[in-house]
Amino acid sequence: MINKEIKKHFPILNQEINGHPLVYLDSAATSQKPVQVIEAMKAYYELDNSNVHRGVHTLGNRATEKYEGAREKVRNFINARSTEEVIFLRGTTTAINLVAQSYGRANVEEGDEIVITYMEHHSNIIPWQQLAKERGAVLKYIELEEDGTISLEQVRAAITERTKIVSMVYVSNVLGTMNPVKEVAEIAHQHGAVMVVDGAQAAPHLKIDVQELNCDFFAFSGHKMVGPTGIGVLYGKKELLNAMEPVEFGGEMIDFVGLYDSTWKELPWKFEGGTPIIAGAVGLGAAIDFLTEVGLNNIERHEHEMAAYAMDRMSTIEGLNIYGPADPEQRAGIVTFNLDGVHPHDLATVLDMHGVAVRAGHHCAQPLMKWLDVTATARASFYLYNSEADVDRLVDGLRIAKEYFKDVF
Ligand code: PMP
Repeated sequence: MINKEIKKHFPILNQEINGHPLVYLDSAATSQKPVQVIEAMKAYYELDNSNVHRGVHTLGNRATEKYEGAREKVRNFINARSTEEVIFLRGTTTAINLVAQSYGRANVEEGDEIVITYMEHHSNIIPWQQLAKERGAVLKYIELEEDGTISLEQVRAAITERTKIVSMVYVSNVLGTMNPVKEVAEIAHQHGAVMVVDGAQAAPHLKIDVQELNCDFFAFSGHKMVGPTGIGVLYGKKELLNAMEPVEFGGEMIDFVGLYDSTWKELPWKFEGGTPIIAGAVGLGAAIDFLTEVGLNNIERHEHEMAAYAMDRMSTIEGLNIYGPADPEQRAGIVTFNLDGVHPHDLATVLDMHGVAVRAGHHCAQPLMKWLDVTATARASFYLYNSEADVDRLVDGLRIAKEYFKDVF
């Protein structure tokens, strides 16, 4: 269960910022790390550090066991059929770029369509823009409903027989919206397209089952799910990955190298050129153990409750606009807002003066900002270590900011 004790596992949260106990509400940007993850990485470097897949010596074997052991933890975490379908990369951005550059280049032709939505992170827009330009393909956007949700009617209206790729965020990093990616995958498949899921904000907060979603690719980042930076995952269906060419060439990913021609290792290693992020994988494995022990269902419930409490309390502040679905059950623990007459950067600065860390800006989603008709917003994002007391501190800070700017203008 989630209670106040959880916070004790996160040493960074036990500090003062500008004379106030820290309230960290920026987990959608990156989450904090529990001592279990920090210790696992420290132990790896102190006891087992070596390169993987080649050492005949004991340390090399131990490092390989830890690295491949982490892959099995990821497989189990997302319910992939096999570890061959789990590729370790730098993060969501790298994973989506790999799909665009490898699968996309081989399968998208002139006049074909790539379908995304207005609520995508830049990492799930630009790789497709580049691919569309290169191949002479058409990039199409699924319209959003007024409350920032996606309806299957609009999905059906956008996907056609020319659609080759549909790529969609599972949980929006701005609106918190949880999208019906399973149903969208079904529609994509009916038209012979593949379904790519940007799971960066989903993997930390929901139980992921890639077989149940029946998506073709699923990308996520370790650092948003209490793991370290520098490690992320691309899940892909084995038959698709097998048919794809690597995009990074060099050590570790080869089978045989001749003077003018080379062959690749089997899955998943053919996509992991160079020395991999070994300590990162170890840290991600420890993060998965931690989240699994707490229970993803408990985390999801906690987030709905945090969103509900925050939206309820924040709605008492006059002039405060919250974006995205009104029903907290339709969103993860992300609340994006603006306060009339106050620039979100100024708001975030005043909150920081009171020890409350929120994000302000375009949140790497400029097309969505355009859709919302704003240049920027403030965003509070909650995770398993946040409590109602943190929301109360946010609301106190917002009231102080409101008073402060009333005098300034
Ligand atoms: N997609 C979404 C929805 C995100 O929130 C983020 C991170 N803000 C990314 C993609 C990119 O993740 P990363 O920077 O870890 O590659």
